[in-house]
Amino acid sequence: MYVFKFGGASVKNAESVKNLAKILQKFSENIVVVISAMGKSTNALEQIADFFFTGNQVELNKSFDDFKNFHFSVMKDLFVDSEHSSYKKVNEVFEKMQLKISGKASLNYDFDYDQIVSYGEILSTLIVCEYLKEIRIKAEWMDIRESLKTDNKYREAKVDWQNTEMLMKQNFLFEGKDILVTQGFLGSTINNLTTTLGREGSDYTAAIIAFVLEAEKVIIWKDVPGVLNADPKWFDDTVLLEKISYKDAIELAFYGTSVIHPKTIQPLKKKSIPLYVKSFIEPDLSGTLVTNHDYDTLIPVFIFKMNQVLISISARDLSFIAEDYMEIILGAFARNGLNINLMQNSATSFQICVNNDRNRIDRIVAELGQQFNIEWENALELVTIRYFDEQTIERVTVQKEVILEQRNKTTAQMVMRNC
Ligand code: ASP
Ligand code: MG
Repeated sequence: MYVFKFGGASVKNAESVKNLAKILQKFSENIVVVISAMGKSTNALEQIADFFFTGNQVELNKSFDDFKNFHFSVMKDLFVDSEHSSYKKVNEVFEKMQLKISGKASLNYDFDYDQIVSYGEILSTLIVCEYLKEIRIKAEWMDIRESLKTDNKYREAKVDWQNTEMLMKQNFLFEGKDILVTQGFLGSTINNLTTTLGREGSDYTAAIIAFVLEAEKVIIWKDVPGVLNADPKWFDDTVLLEKISYKDAIELAFYGTSVIHPKTIQPLKKKSIPLYVKSFIEPDLSGTLVTNHDYDTLIPVFIFKMNQVLISISARDLSFIAEDYMEIILGAFARNGLNINLMQNSATSFQICVNNDRNRIDRIVAELGQQFNIEWENALELVTIRYFDEQTIERVTVQKEVILEQRNKTTAQMVMRNC
């Protein structure tokens, strides 16, 4: 049994849904197909959730209509017969959604967010599954929320592995079907309230399913040929990494490679399930294989993070930044949920590089401002090079001024400003 994951870009319109079906037809194995919301639907749904929570009725109705029209326009190209039974099914989902957004907001934004944003995956999987059936693929729609159980930390739910193992093994049976179609990113609490696993969480869902059902392999289908050594947005001579170790994949995801969600690798590694990252545009190419092997790729990999903020923190009396201060400082970052991309300390100051998340930064500054001097610089760039050498460093620092640098044996990181 295989687990396939198709992201938003691979189901962004009718043509791409048809392409997905063609890919499935190339395989004779049983496949669990995990799908994300269509195109940029999750971003649209985040807006809908905001309008709902803040009571902006006009914008709420408008964006709900847009959202609906988008899905129906995809369907029109897939099911030409306007009487096709799938329209009724999809309409029922929209009615439920309408009911939710016509109600009153709860006091918990994260809860409401999950109840609304989850419709993206419910709809995409329903539409794709209906289309597969239409072209005579033996497919069945599965509600992942009946199998993937989580705690109630909405928007960032943690998997309840014990219940998930039990339910998923019971529910995910092929029974004469070839394909089970299910939602990425979603789960539910023990009381059956919908949760989400964090943005871009569908890769992780595929890994959870593969782990529990002991899949032979996982394939993540992308609009790039595999894992590249840099984002083609920044370099035009990127190199495909044909084979990388789980360890390298974890490191690359940690530093910010956007191809694989960081949580995906761990469950696969535990059961040595190979992961392929392949192109849905050229599905016959071999892509990248992530597996258990001990040699390192050694091809330099570049990861760029733009719009970085470097925060410098020092004690008001210029006393040493010792462990007790670090505890206070790092505690403030953890409590406010701001990830640290890089940090470094000297005797009297502590420097932390983060994404420009205004809201969270302001809260941290308010919290630490009493006790510390805080300065910051915006509009910086953080570059990470794994398997660096002097040449690769020179390449990325052209016309840049490096203001903070950290190196270990394999990885160099630099915070830079334009000069
Ligand atoms: N649709 C969700 C998102 O865009 C989950 C995913 O795509 O993995 O974040
Ligand atoms: Mg997505």
